[in-house]
Amino acid sequence: MPELPEIAYLAKQLHEVLVMKNIKSIENYQEKSLNKTLDSFKKNIVSQSIKEVTAKGKWIKILFSSDDYLAINLGMGGEIYFNQDHKKTNTKIIFQSDDYLVISFWWFGHVHFVSKGEHHIIDELGYDLIHEDISFQQFKDFILGNRGNIKNVLLDQRKIAGIGNYYVHDILFTTKIHPLKKANTITEKQLNKLYQVIIETFNEAIHQHGSFYEEDIYGHKGSYKADLVAYKEDKPCPICKTTILKIKTSATTSYICPNCQR
Ligand SMILES: [Zn+2]
Repeated sequence: MPELPEIAYLAKQLHEVLVMKNIKSIENYQEKSLNKTLDSFKKNIVSQSIKEVTAKGKWIKILFSSDDYLAINLGMGGEIYFNQDHKKTNTKIIFQSDDYLVISFWWFGHVHFVSKGEHHIIDELGYDLIHEDISFQQFKDFILGNRGNIKNVLLDQRKIAGIGNYYVHDILFTTKIHPLKKANTITEKQLNKLYQVIIETFNEAIHQHGSFYEEDIYGHKGSYKADLVAYKEDKPCPICKTTILKIKTSATTSYICPNCQR
C-alpha cells in the first residue's frame, strides 16, 4: 500500500508532466470509486486546466486553475500511470494533448472531484511532517495529548498523515519505542528522535523513489526497503541479536525487538 513517500514521489512526477494540461475526457469503470456520478465528473472536469499537483498524507491532489481539484487515494495496491495502459484500468483521464493518466485500484481506491471551498476528507488529515512545516514543539505537544498507544496514533490519518504499516515498524525500532507504549508516556528524548526519524526515513524513501514494491508513473519500481525489523520475524535484531517478534497490536501486526524497544 503506498504511503507518504510513494505518494510524494508520484505527486512530484505528476506535477512535472501535468501542469498546464487541459482535460479532454474521463472514463471510469468502477463508479463506486467516484464521489459523484460520472456525468457530473464529465461536466465538472472536462476542459479544466491543471495548476499543480501536490500530496498530503496518502492523498494526491490535482489542483485546477479554478481551485477545484481531484483527490486521488490509491488504496491498497493502487497504481497511477502516465501514458501507459494497465490491464486493470479503473479511471482514465485523457488530456487535450492526447497524453493520459490511468488509475488502477485493487481495493479501496478513490477518485474524488472537489469544488473550490467544498469540504473533503483531506481537510481532516493530521500532521504531514514532510509537506508541512510542523515544529518539534507542535509534534511533541500533539503526541503527548494522546492516551492511545503510539502505533495507533502514528497510523491514524486524522492525527499523523502518511504513515502506514510498512514504514512504521522500522521507525519505532530506530527510536527504540515499543508500539504499545502509551503516547503520553513517551520521553522528550524519544519524541525528539521519533520526529527526526520519521522525517529522515521519509526523505530517504522519497529520494529512492519510494519502496521497492511500488511503481512510479512510468511503471518503474522504487528502491527503498524497510529491512531492520520489519517483516523479519524470527531473525536476529540487527543491534542486539535478540529474536525479532511478530506481535498483535490492536488491528495490526507489529515486528519488534523485545529487548531494544520498551
Ligand atoms: Zn534489539
